[in-house]
Amino acid sequence: MIYKDFQDLKLSALGFGAMRLPTVGGVDAQVDEPAAKELVDYAMAHGINYYDTAWGYHGGHSEAVMGRCLRQYPRQSYYLASKFPGYDLSNMGKVQEIFEEQLRRCGVEYFDFYLFHNVCEMNIEQYLDPQYGIFDYLTQQKKAGRIRHLGLSIHGSIHVLERFLEAYGEAMEFCQVQLNYLDWEFQDAREKVALLERYHIPVWVMEPLRGGRLCQLSEEDAAVLHALRPKESPAGWAFRFLQSIPSVGVTLSGMSTMEQLQENLSFFETEQPLSPEEWDTLQQIARAMTGGVPCTSCHYCTSHCSQELDIPMLLKLYNEHTFTGGGFLAPMALSALPADKQPSACVACRACEAVCPQQIKISDVLADFSQKLHS
Ligand code: SF4
Ligand code: SF4
Repeated sequence: MIYKDFQDLKLSALGFGAMRLPTVGGVDAQVDEPAAKELVDYAMAHGINYYDTAWGYHGGHSEAVMGRCLRQYPRQSYYLASKFPGYDLSNMGKVQEIFEEQLRRCGVEYFDFYLFHNVCEMNIEQYLDPQYGIFDYLTQQKKAGRIRHLGLSIHGSIHVLERFLEAYGEAMEFCQVQLNYLDWEFQDAREKVALLERYHIPVWVMEPLRGGRLCQLSEEDAAVLHALRPKESPAGWAFRFLQSIPSVGVTLSGMSTMEQLQENLSFFETEQPLSPEEWDTLQQIARAMTGGVPCTSCHYCTSHCSQELDIPMLLKLYNEHTFTGGGFLAPMALSALPADKQPSACVACRACEAVCPQQIKISDVLADFSQKLHS
């Protein structure tokens, strides 16, 4: 196992994500606890010391299951992470109640790592609003030793991350980012990593395989990669990409089976970062995979829109929505916008299209987006 230095700790570069534990009959809220325990035991025996759970995973059962799976091990032999569930705005006034319950569920006296979960457009105002006292409460818990390290996970845009870091950046010790070779450009992961580097905040990776999508390459893409590294699997390429980014600390992977765990462990025996040629090849493959509307975010169009729509942002969300066949990211980001800034607010005047250097049929795209969102 590769270990990463983090302050005075040595963290396993592969972290165990407890959001895709084995289940009974495919029911998310029914964790197959004996199978989960077998995975945790194997992970512990093979050097994984970082375990990431959250309030909402597996219908609220992940924390308790992980607590029971880890209970037999000395408390100092593993690092446990959980998160404040601010993705649900009804939780905002309940930070103390939820935090106490999380410790109880996990059967621990402190969390090694604790995060503001899913900072995004929908909740940034509330996370920054002192009336909820979330930051103050969590920093108090840190002073009391019940949180050892405080961080965040980000699903919002780079602008949301900027706002959060302007407010709390000095207190943030790590940040979980959706990072993989597809999202390096597609979800602005590159800009987020660069911003975090300016704050000297290390990056924890979530979705290293994009929910398994990066294991399903086309025959042509697989052949291109095979010619460069004949022994590397598609998953291996995704992990080698991450091993090429210096500020990446822990890479979290939600593992459901022993085969996945064993395969992932094999990628963390040695670091094998990509050469510049390999990196460029992966980026070309990623661009072809995501496709979508070729907006470059030049913003030439926005001053021509009588509805004052943030056209590049909407097109980015359209691409995400189309690529994932729905997903949660685009609806979540749109939920923070008023009705007169939604895709449906476009009046099809086409003034924007006259100035778009990419000749994008913006009004048609927004109409399609609106229809997809409401179908
Ligand atoms: S077509 Fe839609 S997006 Fe473009 S300028 Fe008109 S209202 Fe704005
Ligand atoms: S002008 Fe075209 S390329 Fe530029 S931001 Fe607008 S839609 Fe995107």
